[in-house]
Amino acid sequence: MTLAKLPEFLKTDCYVGGGWVSAGSDARFDVLDPANGEVLASVPRMGEADTDNAIAAAQDAYEGWSNRTAADRARVLNAWAAAMRENAEELARLMTLEQGKPLSEARVEVEYAASFFSWFAEEGRRLYGDIIPPHRTDARILVTRNSLGVVGGITPWNFPSAMVTRKAAPALAAGNCMVLKPAEATPLSALAIAALGEQVGVPAGVFNVVTGDREDAPLIGKALIDNPAVRKIGFTGSTAVGKQLMRDCAGDLTKVSLELGGNAAFIVFDDADIEAALEGVQICKFRNAGQTCIAANRILVQDSIHDKFVAALCAKASEIEIGHGLEDGVSQGPLIDTRGLEKVERLVADATDKGAKLHLGGQRHAAGGTHYQPTVMTGVTPAMDIAHQEVFGPVAAISSFKDEAEAIAMANDTPYGLAGYFYSRDVGRIFRVADALKTGIVGVNTGLISTEVAPFGGVKESGIGREGSKYGIEDWTELKYICLAGL
Ligand code: ADP
Repeated sequence: MTLAKLPEFLKTDCYVGGGWVSAGSDARFDVLDPANGEVLASVPRMGEADTDNAIAAAQDAYEGWSNRTAADRARVLNAWAAAMRENAEELARLMTLEQGKPLSEARVEVEYAASFFSWFAEEGRRLYGDIIPPHRTDARILVTRNSLGVVGGITPWNFPSAMVTRKAAPALAAGNCMVLKPAEATPLSALAIAALGEQVGVPAGVFNVVTGDREDAPLIGKALIDNPAVRKIGFTGSTAVGKQLMRDCAGDLTKVSLELGGNAAFIVFDDADIEAALEGVQICKFRNAGQTCIAANRILVQDSIHDKFVAALCAKASEIEIGHGLEDGVSQGPLIDTRGLEKVERLVADATDKGAKLHLGGQRHAAGGTHYQPTVMTGVTPAMDIAHQEVFGPVAAISSFKDEAEAIAMANDTPYGLAGYFYSRDVGRIFRVADALKTGIVGVNTGLISTEVAPFGGVKESGIGREGSKYGIEDWTELKYICLAGL
């Protein structure tokens, strides 16, 4: 599979004001296939002036777009979703090439990404206001929900399509215009989405994509934040960068929503359906080679079933097929880059040095590059870095616990609070533990929690705001209270 065989929506220029443009400096950077390091394409290295141009294009488009009816915007967004679905196979292949995930997972992500356009097309039509009983007899109080203006989106590489549409769809449905900066590792999926938007008639300037490499990212981010026209930044990425962006946004009080790192606990109680728990752990530990912010970072297993669970997990994990994501039968691709690989190696080495026991894997995979073996280790303690940092790799780090109270205390022993999971068949315990977990999302008897219909987001240092669901559009709006007096 080469890029030459991909369709016309493979774009290697940025999309600004309805046109395809390169950087003012003409500088470009390479996009690599993480499975083998081959250069797939090169895309522009946009700078501050280029970003300002994109913001100006979004500003020009804003009046027309925000003044359309919600139904009109919905027609455009539904057409965009349909175009993604019609081209799903090509989009999935492109994603696998630049991101590495197996094609089967890429297909699921393309559908998930399209679902945000479909969902928010309709939610945009339901941005209801309120009429509040007035405080005086000659007045009426009206509350409306309004768009913000120009908004920025900054997205990561682990879900190259879904993180784009999870921001763009609600933002545009509510009447905003967006400048998006996709991750440097995976800009092609975002540019492909822009190309499909162009095909279905998204008006010029409503959605703009500026690409840049790791060095350019802070400059593009700063240009977005410092420009007074930009009223909100929606960011998904690391906690360190998210905190920096929030500090920068304080300058002119640009709104932020942040989807940051997690440190999910996955608890298996002794009354659990063990087969179901094993299936859940496959999904939320090994999917995308463990590179998700809702991945099970710490697996806590009740001591009476610990050994049985570990043996069964090793048997399952050893069936994982490693290779290029486009090859048939491959269920785990490479890690995104050597930085990611070295982090996994460092955390595994730190854990084993401090007494964790390896049951499976623990090394780079013979396939080479950034491939890493599915790994299972036990005896993980809070003294080990892996208990506190996202491993972002296919490493199941297991600890045992005695009782419910200890499991809850262990699960909550982290500054993060994105997702938490547990398996139990005791209805009382299900309510107790779901209440006690200090996370924005709880998966009970499931490892699969992402859907456009539910609010995704974290508490504590995992972020601010929610994406998806009826709540997800509110973050892209502002309330206006209108007091009609003298009636
Ligand atoms: P990761 O470590 O997983 O790549 P990052 O938080 O570094 O996560 O990246 C997420 C997104 O944020 C990417 O699009 C990246 O280019 C962008 N980014 C990184 N640093 C900055 C920054 N200082 N300002 C704005 N965007 C940034």
